[in-house]
Amino acid sequence: MHVREVQALMRAIYYHKDSRRGALRTWEWLLDEVRELGEAIKAGDKEAMASEFADVLAWLASLANVVGVDLEEAFWYKYPGRCPKCDRTVCACPM
Ligand SMILES: [Zn+2]
Repeated sequence: MHVREVQALMRAIYYHKDSRRGALRTWEWLLDEVRELGEAIKAGDKEAMASEFADVLAWLASLANVVGVDLEEAFWYKYPGRCPKCDRTVCACPM
């Protein structure tokens, strides 16, 4: 499944609700899911991590739908197969 397909799926299932909720409230939901992912990582709970990664991607796609950004296009524009800072295919930036 491509990023564009994930975004289209979220649009089909949730856009009618996401668009009514609006960008800022959808962004707040995304932040909650990111926090929950952090809790799963702290707990070392792999099953919860997988679930929260899915939620983070779903809410990220929902937010992109609400604000009208094509995630796949934005990603490839910024990360065209190399690091945007050092311009290498294997990042050599200092940590
Ligand atoms: Zn780099």
